[in-house]
Amino acid sequence: MSRATSVDHDALLRRHGVQVTAQRLAVLRAVSDRPHSTADDICNVVRAEIGAISRQAVYDSLAALTEKALLRRIQPAGSPARYEDRVGDNHHHLICRTCGRMVDVDCAVGDTPCLTATDDSGYEVDEAEVIYWGRCPECVAATTSHHQQTAKQEQDRRV
Ligand SMILES: [Zn+2]
Ligand SMILES: [Zn+2]
Repeated sequence: MSRATSVDHDALLRRHGVQVTAQRLAVLRAVSDRPHSTADDICNVVRAEIGAISRQAVYDSLAALTEKALLRRIQPAGSPARYEDRVGDNHHHLICRTCGRMVDVDCAVGDTPCLTATDDSGYEVDEAEVIYWGRCPECVAATTSHHQQTAKQEQDRRV
């Protein structure tokens, strides 16, 4: 598969002082191709691409890349951590409670941290993480049509 227009991940790793390995490159590319994937998703993608690689090796690569700020780790409550390569812009996320789909939403204000604590208790705050929970359009549409079907079945039964 040719990725002529994609980012030069090789150079990116080197610029961040991360040793370039086939595994790290594959992990970075997988996250970049499918932002907000879980470690398990990444593992499957990487395995499909470079063959045998242990789950632990994928986890280690994700940890190393996150530590070097090449990846951002999002840990929504009650859900496995997700990874993305859109880093450093303090954007936020929308998550569907039904199917778990996660999408980006730009920061409401623009500066990091975009929210100011009313009382920071003396902490030096550098990030405000916001997750909007709800239902995605597909899930809303699915339940709506389901309700319509149920209503129709009840009508049919009454006839
Ligand atoms: Zn959904
Ligand atoms: Zn994101």
